[in-house]
Amino acid sequence: ALQAGIVGLPNVGKSTLFNAVSNSAKAQASNYRFCTIDPNVGLVDVPDARLQKLAELVHPDRIVPTQIEIVDIAGLVRGASKGEGLGNKFLGNIREVDAIIHVIRCFEDENILRDEGAINPVGDKEIIDIELQLKDLESVDKKLSRIEKQARIDPKFKVEYDVLVRCKEHLEKGKSIRELDLTKEERPAIADLFLLTEKPVLYVANVDEASMHTGNRFSAALQEAVKGENAQVIIMNNSIEAQISEMEDPADKQMFMEEYKMTEPALDRLIHSAYKLLNLQTYFTAGVQEVRAWTIHEGWKAPQAASVIHTDFEKGFIKAEVIAYNDFITLGSEAACRDAGKLRIEGKEYIVKDGDVMHFRFNV
Ligand code: GDP
Repeated sequence: ALQAGIVGLPNVGKSTLFNAVSNSAKAQASNYRFCTIDPNVGLVDVPDARLQKLAELVHPDRIVPTQIEIVDIAGLVRGASKGEGLGNKFLGNIREVDAIIHVIRCFEDENILRDEGAINPVGDKEIIDIELQLKDLESVDKKLSRIEKQARIDPKFKVEYDVLVRCKEHLEKGKSIRELDLTKEERPAIADLFLLTEKPVLYVANVDEASMHTGNRFSAALQEAVKGENAQVIIMNNSIEAQISEMEDPADKQMFMEEYKMTEPALDRLIHSAYKLLNLQTYFTAGVQEVRAWTIHEGWKAPQAASVIHTDFEKGFIKAEVIAYNDFITLGSEAACRDAGKLRIEGKEYIVKDGDVMHFRFNV
């Protein structure tokens, strides 16, 4: 499964968030599955209301959501890029994730220590950004000096060299690579570096209880600061989420959420957004044994989509029967869709769409 890593300065609410994710999974076993792979890595179900709606029509024995991995990357501090506070180890962990969930403290609490003085969400974000940018600069510099000579004689390396120089200048201005416009042709020049600031990011503004629906001046400042990044800011209260997640009785949970005027845990929104951030899409299989969500990347063709069910499905792919999600829900069954001409037969070149209800035919 693809991974999203939780990062942020100490005492901003990262572990509280990670615990909320892992608890709600354990408690609400039917809605969430969560298993701890190691203390800092958890596999969590992606909430998808479409799955329940399909299940109401098909009445399967079981419902199987799709999953992503959430990794708790604690321990980033100022100076991490220079190896401070096990800095290099944590930066290495970030290199392995596919997307970043950056938790920012937007709550005041004098009992909870903050190394950097007064609450300053934009400053906090910059501290982390700078560490990641410095680390990227190191990687870019290393590659630059490695290909410098070749670039002078071989035009192929010259292109690569120029891209790297642009990255270097960009990073030196205190900007992240994700904000740099690179063409499809230019991207390969840095693909082998797995740059930290190239990874997609979403921000969690961890606000106090009073601001969980509205945000506060801290989260507003953060939103203003990330405007140019085209990144989502999720306003939530991690402590409340952790409390919700600890409740085992759904009725208790419901009552608690009503008290806070919540219609769903903010966690659901977060997991959903992380899934989108990873550029993932979902297709469904809807049989009487199971109604299930499967994860694919945007633009995948039918045989590749089939391979996530079983690798043999790709090799032996013949065709796919496809029903658009909305048609399935409107008409109510596969048979009704077939009668209405809404069941399409698609071949190897079909690009699977988000929400497609698929049935694959294949040779074994
Ligand atoms: P981490 O170091 O980023 O993992 O931070 P923790 O999750 O361990 O949280 C640090 C402290 O802040 C703990 O005592 C939490 O209970 C507390 N905390 C986390 N979220 C909130 C919040 O939204 N409001 C308040 N007042 N405290 C919080």
